[in-house]
Amino acid sequence: MESKEIFFADADSSFEEAQFVILGVPFDGTCSFRKGARFAPKSIREESYNLETFLFEHDVELEDVPFHDSGDVKCEALEEMMGGVGNTVENILNQDKFPIIIGGEHSLTPPAVRKFENVGVLILDAHIDFRDQYLDERNSHACVTRRVSELVGIENVLSLGVRSMEKKEKEEVDKLGLKYIDANKLKELGMKKVLENVKWDRVYLSLDMDFFDPSFAPGVGNPEYFGLSPEDAKECINILAPRLVGFDITEVSPPFDNGNTASLAARFVREVIAVKWKTNKTTK
Ligand code: MN
Ligand code: MN
Repeated sequence: MESKEIFFADADSSFEEAQFVILGVPFDGTCSFRKGARFAPKSIREESYNLETFLFEHDVELEDVPFHDSGDVKCEALEEMMGGVGNTVENILNQDKFPIIIGGEHSLTPPAVRKFENVGVLILDAHIDFRDQYLDERNSHACVTRRVSELVGIENVLSLGVRSMEKKEKEEVDKLGLKYIDANKLKELGMKKVLENVKWDRVYLSLDMDFFDPSFAPGVGNPEYFGLSPEDAKECINILAPRLVGFDITEVSPPFDNGNTASLAARFVREVIAVKWKTNKTTK
């Protein structure tokens, strides 16, 4: 049974007025382990109501920011999800707005990225997601980085926080020249230092919540220990904000969450809106 629809807190603007548009993608059809990401858009929206509208650190009052929640994309099957994400993102971009996509599993990223021109894609993820196919499916959540690199050119992709890949993936990553910084190296160098080498003018940021250590974000589809902290992703958003053109957040699995993982995801949606809004105001 369908439960009552809930929208992200403070997303009170109409689509026309909004500078940021949220869309939910309740899909976990290719999930291979802790299934449940289809419940994440609702869970993240629920958690958003606990957070203050004023982000004091950025001096941004979200009630002053025009943003809209366009609800969920219809996505019972993989193809339907991909088509729905693509069409919705295209519509948002055509109106010069900033899309914020709340998954759902990570497989939503390629159909979103496909709609951007001249973009570099930064992926925060424990997994390299570079299989050519997984369980006979090329559009699986386990093939995201591979598909994205085909769409935008492998030189325009960087994966950060990696600490899991199979041997064959490693060989193909090395052969095809995918750039990545593993979790240990990222901790050693620090986010700021690593991002000094990111020269793209326009950046799409994809945050797979398993980038974080499971002690911070336990409710994810494929948890991996030895991960990064919320501060690392926050620093990344702060640094890249002027160049961000799109954002997705994926892989929260509410059946395995006590609410904190969804809460962290909700906070990052608010962080992106606040920091991007502040940057827009000071550069226009
Ligand atoms: Mn992923
Ligand atoms: Mn992952």
